[in-house]
Amino acid sequence: MSDSLKGKVALVTGGSRGIGAAIARRLAADGASVAITYAKDASAAAAVVKAIEDAGGKAVAIQADAADTEAVRSAVEKAVATLGKLDVVVNNAGTAIPKLFEETTPEEMDRVIDINVRGVFITTQAALKHMKNNGRIIMIGSCVGERNLTPGLAAYSATKGAVKMFAQSLSREIGGRGITVNNVQPGPIDTDLNPAVGDWATPQKAVTALNRYGHVDEVAALVAFVASPESSYITGANLTVDGGTNA
Ligand code: NDP
Repeated sequence: MSDSLKGKVALVTGGSRGIGAAIARRLAADGASVAITYAKDASAAAAVVKAIEDAGGKAVAIQADAADTEAVRSAVEKAVATLGKLDVVVNNAGTAIPKLFEETTPEEMDRVIDINVRGVFITTQAALKHMKNNGRIIMIGSCVGERNLTPGLAAYSATKGAVKMFAQSLSREIGGRGITVNNVQPGPIDTDLNPAVGDWATPQKAVTALNRYGHVDEVAALVAFVASPESSYITGANLTVDGGTNA
C-alpha cells in the first residue's frame, strides 16, 4: 500500500461487506479517512471500522439505505461533519435479484432500480455539494453493463448500463471543476452476492478468460488507482476488471 491518499476523505456506500468493504480498507491503507454506509448489518460495518482503526486509520460507519433519499443525504452530511470534507465518493451499494425477466415483479424491478440507479444519483448529487478540485466520483458498475452473457440478469444489467451512461454524461458536466467521474466494472467477484461456488457460479467462471472468479481486493486495487492523483487525466471512462469476461 502507499500514502497516495494521505489527507483525503472518502465515502464508500455499501462498505460493510464484499467489494465495498475491500475498497474501504484499501483506501484507508492508502491514507484516506473513510466513511462507509450500510443498510442492515451494523456489526459487519463496525468490524470494517475496527479493522481500519486497528491498522492505524480513521473510519466511521453510517446506516443509510441507498433507496432512502433522506437517509442518503444525511449520511453524506454526517460523513463531511465527522471527517471534515469529501474528496472521493465510491458508489458501490448495489444489489441483484437474479431471475428471468418475465418472472420479475414490478416491486423487484423498483428495488433494483432504486438502489443501483436512484441511490447513485442521490448520493452523487449530495456529495457534489462538498466536492472541490481534484475530486473523484467512482461508480461500481458491472461488466454486464456493457455486455451480458447470463440469462436472469436483464433488469440488473439495465441498471448497470444506466450507471455507465450516468458516469460518462456527468463527467462532461463537472470536468470544468476538476472532478473526474469513472465507472469501474467488475466481473464475477466472490462475495455474498455472487459466491464463487454453486450452480450460478459455474457459467460465470466459464466465460472468464482467466477461468476463475476475481477477489474483492482486485477490484479495490483499481478503485485505489482511480481515486489517486495519478489518475488525473482519466474521466468518463469505463474500466473493466472482469478476468476477461467481456474480452
Ligand atoms: P454484497 O451483497 O456482498 O455487499 C453489498 C454491500 O452493500 C453490503 O455492505 C451491504 O450492507 C450494502 N448494501 C446492500 N444494499 C444496500 C442498500 N440498499 N443501501 C446501502 N447499502 C446496501 O455485494 P457485492 O460486494 O458483491 O457488490 C457490491 C457492488 O458491486 C454492487 O454494486 C454490485 O452490483 C457490484 N458488482 C458485483 C459483482 C460481483 O460479482 N460480486 C460483479 C459486478 C458488480 P448490508 O449488509 O448492511 O445490507
